[in-house]
Amino acid sequence: MKVLVLNCGSSSIKYQLFDMTTTTVMAKGLVQRVGMAGSTIDYRKGDDGKKKVYESDILDHKIGIQKIFELLTTGEEAVLKSLEELGAVGHRIVHGGDKFSSSVLITEEVKNAIRDCIVFAPLHNPPNLKGVEAVEEILPKVKQVAVFDTAFHQTMPAEAYIYALPYMFYEKHRIRRYGFHGTSHRYVASRAAKLLGKPLSELKLITVHLGNGGSVCAINKGKSVDTSMGHTPLEGLVMGTRCGDMDPALILHIMKEYELTISEMDNLLNKHSGVLGISQISSDLRDLEEDWPKKSERANLALDVYSHRIKKYIGSYIAVLNGVDAIVWTAGVGENSPIVRSIVHREMDWLGVKLDLEKNEVTWRGAEGDITTPDSKVKVLVIPTNEELVIAQDTMDCIKK
Ligand code: AMP
Repeated sequence: MKVLVLNCGSSSIKYQLFDMTTTTVMAKGLVQRVGMAGSTIDYRKGDDGKKKVYESDILDHKIGIQKIFELLTTGEEAVLKSLEELGAVGHRIVHGGDKFSSSVLITEEVKNAIRDCIVFAPLHNPPNLKGVEAVEEILPKVKQVAVFDTAFHQTMPAEAYIYALPYMFYEKHRIRRYGFHGTSHRYVASRAAKLLGKPLSELKLITVHLGNGGSVCAINKGKSVDTSMGHTPLEGLVMGTRCGDMDPALILHIMKEYELTISEMDNLLNKHSGVLGISQISSDLRDLEEDWPKKSERANLALDVYSHRIKKYIGSYIAVLNGVDAIVWTAGVGENSPIVRSIVHREMDWLGVKLDLEKNEVTWRGAEGDITTPDSKVKVLVIPTNEELVIAQDTMDCIKK
């Protein structure tokens, strides 16, 4: 079966076409600047083919998806004879609230539920839904599946997801912790079990997903029992431009002192904080790590605060899980930053973690590996994430059901 995976953002569409008989990528690419001047679509045949970039007027998501279909079926690099070969489309949907604990076939009812969750993810769920509706209009017969970022964390117990606010906010407005990056945490946990040669049902794992956003997850016997992101992706770790955990009273104080509006404060916390806010250099860790530790005091401070928060979460999740078998690093920073991994794992020998500094220096992007010494009680693994593959697999499983 051929499965197309779509990740529709507000001005972009990421896509990958899988042949699920061999689990290989047939084509992939990215539509950028949807609805803006200068929109482009790039296309790669296969997983590592040469990238071709086309300029095109892409006014909305439907036109973007039509262009993707055109590239997949016409020209020298086409990979499908016709769209009839397409078995299903799987969508990344950011927020499923507490209605979905697994991926589902998209129906009118599911679309309404995704719509109901717009209040929780106003930037993400609307473009996700636009993608679903565009495919429906272009290919009304093709089955579509929703794979939610939040679903994996629906196994969290109440003590991990209830905020200490008046209970009415939970009962009436479903204000609670949901967690994100679920597809990635789930994928790397299952790969970790394979690498360790043990069933997932026997493992205690802590997975650390660090990309532009970042979250840590405590996984007991394959189930998420706590995670660092909360009601929104702002809670938890220090991120590129997001502050993560902070004293909530500061929000009131800063708004009052600087006479900020709600949207100005929202902007400050989401776009101007994190490592960018501390360093005033960049939100991209590569810029802070250049010449480390000689770049500047503030670059070092940003890296230290960023790493310290990760360490705190790992420590608290070891307590939550009552032990840990392996700590797994993934995504842009997790896979590629020996510096952050070494700062976090410095002086963790009491916990049973002994990093092999040489193995840690390797840039793992694309490869899986164990970066601990043979006598390390707790293993530290680097595992590249593959959310698209999970979406394609879930899509196929839902269709088969
Ligand atoms: P992702 O969202 O998983 O694609 O991750 C993107 C982030 O990964 C970027 O913002 C960078 O900060 C980070 N990143 C990518 N490559 C490296 C690297 N070699 N060293 C440190 N950080 C990196």
